[in-house]
Amino acid sequence: MSWITVLWSMLASACLTFALLHLFIWAKGIQPWANLSFAVAATAAAVITGMELMAMRAASIEQLAMILRWAHLPVLILWVAIVGFVRCYFDAGRPWLAWTVGILRGLALILSLTTGQNLFFDEITGLKPVTILGSDTISIAEGTLNPWYVVGPLSTLALAGFVLDAAFTMWRRGTDNGRRRAIIFSSSIIFFMLTAVGHTALVNAGVLDSPYIVGLSFMPILFAMSYELSHDLFHSVQLAHQLQANEAELRLSEQRMSLAASAADLRLWEWDIVHDEIWSTDKQRMLFGIALSEKISFEHFLSVLHDEDRERVRLSVEKSLKGNGHFESEYRIVYPDGRIIWVAARGRIEFDNGQPLRMLGVSIDITRRKQAELEVQQQRNELTHLSRVNLLGELSGSLAHELNQPLAAILSNAQAAQRFLARDKADIAEVLDILKDIVSEDRRAGAIIQRLRILLRKGEVRRLPLDVNKVVKDVLKLLQSDLVNQSITVTIDLDQKLPVVNGDRVQLQQVLLNLILNACEAMSRSKTSNRQLSVRTERADTDLIKVSVGDRGPGISPESLESIFQPFFTTKKQGMGLGLTICRNIISAHEGQLRASNSVGGGAVLHFTLPASPGVSV
Ligand code: ADP
Repeated sequence: MSWITVLWSMLASACLTFALLHLFIWAKGIQPWANLSFAVAATAAAVITGMELMAMRAASIEQLAMILRWAHLPVLILWVAIVGFVRCYFDAGRPWLAWTVGILRGLALILSLTTGQNLFFDEITGLKPVTILGSDTISIAEGTLNPWYVVGPLSTLALAGFVLDAAFTMWRRGTDNGRRRAIIFSSSIIFFMLTAVGHTALVNAGVLDSPYIVGLSFMPILFAMSYELSHDLFHSVQLAHQLQANEAELRLSEQRMSLAASAADLRLWEWDIVHDEIWSTDKQRMLFGIALSEKISFEHFLSVLHDEDRERVRLSVEKSLKGNGHFESEYRIVYPDGRIIWVAARGRIEFDNGQPLRMLGVSIDITRRKQAELEVQQQRNELTHLSRVNLLGELSGSLAHELNQPLAAILSNAQAAQRFLARDKADIAEVLDILKDIVSEDRRAGAIIQRLRILLRKGEVRRLPLDVNKVVKDVLKLLQSDLVNQSITVTIDLDQKLPVVNGDRVQLQQVLLNLILNACEAMSRSKTSNRQLSVRTERADTDLIKVSVGDRGPGISPESLESIFQPFFTTKKQGMGLGLTICRNIISAHEGQLRASNSVGGGAVLHFTLPASPGVSV
């Protein structure tokens, strides 16, 4: 086989290999139009190379004329494919120039089929054998040139113009990458295109005795086009590798994070607010008692909360959605088997143009802490109750006396009624009056017992709107006989427009009872004329009320003004020193303050504040 055949066959195979490769990439959907254009261009170049070889080996004029006639079809396809590639890949080149290229090349094909023997020759007069490199002989056409021949080079010039224009556009876009491509691609296309066309013209004109080298000239163009495409492909592969590495890194940091979260016993969650879907770690789902496969919406999440917490959590979330985006709450979750656990959650909302997108957060099981808190609270309530019972113990003498009065009255009234009824003519009206008195005395005794029962009760702490003046009056009623027994005069100064407070009636009664009994105790050694107790309620501020209990006792030394609230501080023989500590705890739990001071005229004043409940009436 001659070296010409080997070389041209290799060229054609190379073009076909390129074509197949890019056809494969096109099928993968990577830059499909650019790769398809390239595959078509490479196939056309392969066909042209094959036809060139056939022309060189042509046995007759007719055979050569026909090959040269149809050679313009793959050339048309090649030109159009190059235009397509530039438009798809570089997104450049003027459409009208693209159309000009296509029309001129199409015209060249038509002229090749319709005028002369083909576009090159009007008539081929002979086949000239030419020996190349001293060994291989090929056939070259001789004859008169076709006057339409010029349309071919014109279409090539149009293609060169189109490519140049596209290169300018790429250059103007100004990225380094764009400029590099503009130079490499446009210069290689234009140089090799003009080489091919110029060489063909010289061969046809009989100036050069050489085979056609259109296929050969287009190899560098194909290389340039392929390089461009591969460059992107390699870049994509590089990016894919980088992405893989980043993903691995991400997975690793996720693992580290979940390890840290699980070590800290934290449960992570994310609420996609737009689609109302909550993602959470498996541990978090377990915490909520929600199956792994179940989709969690916000309402679903609320449904597993304790009835008493649901509305509070909903309001808290709504507040953070409208506010600064920070969410913090403690709530109970009720498992299907009735078990209750306490959870503390913290979250942060991400906004986009003021629209909440998602909330990211963590939760932690705080059941143990809550149980401990509850136990402490129970113990505190227990102590408070004991102290109350103790206080009432102090009052037992006077209370017994107070109870004795109505009981004695009932007894004497009942005896009088017996006497009336024993008479022959009983005065029924008189008996009825006596019975009325018995009922009223019985009610009095009942009221005393009722007040005691309330104080002795060991109930739950319940904060309700209440009138502090009423609390003061109730306590003073309870202490009435004790105060009389001790010859203490009481001045009551109650603000009639006192706002309502939110509080536990029994606990506030306890505080007042304690303060008044301490005041009485402080005045126990004073002269009877000096035993003056004052109880006052007033508005301390717009949203604060103040209750003061003053006495005319010895007062409290300045250094003890704070220490009297310390546990076990007492100056009494029988004292425990816990009364004021418990009172301060009660007032603090009501968000108020209990303080002591000395009044200018002598004696101590113990006063406490409580926040008013705006807009609430009793
Ligand atoms: P206790 O009554 O068992 O001593 P408290 O905590 O009620 O316990 O009182 C602590 C101490 O505070 C009393 O022992 C007393 O010294 C002092 N104290 C309380 N109220 C007054 C008061 N009105 N005047 C003077 N000292 C008082």
